[in-house]
Order: sequence, then C-alpha cells, then structure tokens
Amino acid sequence: MSKPAFSFEFFPAKTEVGHEKLLSTFDELNELSPAYFSVTYGAGGSTRDRTLDIVKALIGRSDTPITPHISCIGDNKSQIAELLELYQSLGINRLVALRGDLPSGQVGMGELPFAVDLVRFIREHSGEHFNIEVAAYPEMHPQARSFMFDIDNLVNKYNAGANAAITQFFYNADSYLYLRDALEQRGIDTTKNPLVAGIMPITNSSNLIRFADSCGADIPRYLRRQLSDFGDDKKAIREFGFDVVYRLCERLIAEGVPAMHFYSMNKVEPNKRLVEALGLVA
Ligand code: FAD
Repeated sequence: MSKPAFSFEFFPAKTEVGHEKLLSTFDELNELSPAYFSVTYGAGGSTRDRTLDIVKALIGRSDTPITPHISCIGDNKSQIAELLELYQSLGINRLVALRGDLPSGQVGMGELPFAVDLVRFIREHSGEHFNIEVAAYPEMHPQARSFMFDIDNLVNKYNAGANAAITQFFYNADSYLYLRDALEQRGIDTTKNPLVAGIMPITNSSNLIRFADSCGADIPRYLRRQLSDFGDDKKAIREFGFDVVYRLCERLIAEGVPAMHFYSMNKVEPNKRLVEALGLVA
C-alpha cells in the first residue's frame, strides 16, 4: 500500500518573536520532507502583509513549495489580481483558494462572493499557472443551506478548475469516506482530483472545542467527554489525543487516502510525532 503525501499548514504569527519561532518550526518540519507548506490568509486582506512576509521568508529558506491561501470575500478583483501577479513573480505555483470569513465589523461580500467565483477568476487571470486547492467539508459547512447543496458546491469548485480539495478537520473517518464516495457519484475522479484529509492533532482541549464550534467540525461525544475529564492534565490530553488521531490516520491510510494536510498550529512536536509514527516520512 503506498503511503499518502503529507503537508503542513501555518498561520502568520502576530509578533516578531512568533515569526522567529515559526521559522524554526518550519526548519524542523521541513526535515521530514513534506510535499509543501501552506500559509493561511485573513479574509478581507486582514493578514495580507503578515502572510506575504512569512511566504517570502519561507521561499528563501528551502526548495519545499510554499502554498499561500488566498480568499475572496470582501476583496475586489483588482486586489486579487495584484496578489496573483505578485505570487507568480515570486515563483509560487500553488494556492489554496477560499471564500474566507469576514472579520467582525467588516461588511460587503465583494466582487467574488464565493470560492467558486475565485477559482474561476484565478483560471481566467492566470490560466493554468497555479495548482488550486479548495476547501471541503465532510460534516457540511456551517452556513450551507443543506448537505447536498454543500456537496454540489464542492463539485462546482472542482469543475471550475480546482485540482484538489482539502477537508476541514474531522474525527469521524466515515464522514470523509462518505464525501469521497459522493464526489465519485457526481463524476469527480478523486484519483485525479484528490480529496485531501485535513488532520488536526489534539494537544489542547479548550482551544480544540472552541475552534471546532466556530467552524462546524464535530467533536464526538467520547472524545469531548474524555478531554473534559482530563481537566488541566496536559500530558494525558496529549497522549489520548495522539492515540485518537493516530487511529484516525491509520484508518484513512487503509482506505487509500491520497494525502494528509496537517493543521500544524505552528507546532513541531504533535505533527512530527504523528507523521513519523505513521511511517509517512520517506
Ligand atoms: P465556499 O465554497 O464559497 O462556501 C461557503 C458557503 O457558501 C458554503 O456554506 C456553501 O455551501 C455556500 N454557498 C456556495 N455557493 C453559494 C451560493 N451561490 N449561494 C448561497 N450559498 C452558497 N479561512 C480564512 O479566512 N483564511 C484561510 O487561510 C483559510 N484556510 C482554510 C483552509 C482549509 C483547508 C479550510 C477547510 C478552511 C479554511 N478557511 C480559511 C475557512 C474558510 O474560509 C471558511 O470555512 C469559509 O466560511 C468558507 O470558505 P469556502 O472557501 O469553503 O467557501
């Protein structure tokens, strides 16, 4: 059985200290030879400069591809075109294309209200230059009008020119497998246009629950209850979290998942431990 590819996601740090720490995290994770690193982007341009700073710093540090996230909500076409041209001039040839969520207080969807519009715009503006990945939701995007509507939206994103999709994190392997089957039934060949599993290591109970609640990811009851029982026992949470995520990944590998994208939370240890234990490192 071939091992899936793996990649890591970073978010831009807010402080100079955080920026330096991120660079050293990059160096350590880069030794594992991931397929690429991605860097998130604050919708409406809220992290534009910080995302650009870290993207430029990482490009200068190794040959591993850097994949900026780019979002469309609240931006106009000329701002997005400018960013696409800048990334192309920096030698970047992969993007994660998202709608994004507007920071509170900011109103107006902009000229490209949904991710499918952004994918179309990138293809119109930059042709086939970029490999485009989009977001997918095994447990449904929280604002979707129905589960089927959300799956159709994902199909539309592939058909508009996305090469692959990365899922929101999940702890129920069946939700991923169901979505993959649903895509195949709708004519998406996931061997050519993969559904990459988004993996969130578990290291902290309250952050995970807050994050899951905000993005509509389900924390199964057995997991929620045990995390709550562990209270402040960080070591117990780490060990239990490792076991849960390791088993999830093992099942996904047995089911032929093509690639795993780790929401690294800018940390070395939980991510390194997982990819090494799973035997993903070449
Ligand atoms: P879309 O695919 O446009 O879908 C958004 C919602 O609109 C869905 O509910 C969909 O069903 C619905 N919809 C689509 N078309 C229509 C229509 N015509 N009419 C009505 N409803 C419609 N956010 C950031 O801000 N920055 C990041 O860097 C970032 N990175 C991410 C990376 C990954 C892998 C994932 C999974 C998410 C990421 N997000 C990021 C979060 C993402 O931006 C949010 O989940 C956002 O709410 C939706 O983005 P989308 O690209 O999935 O939007």
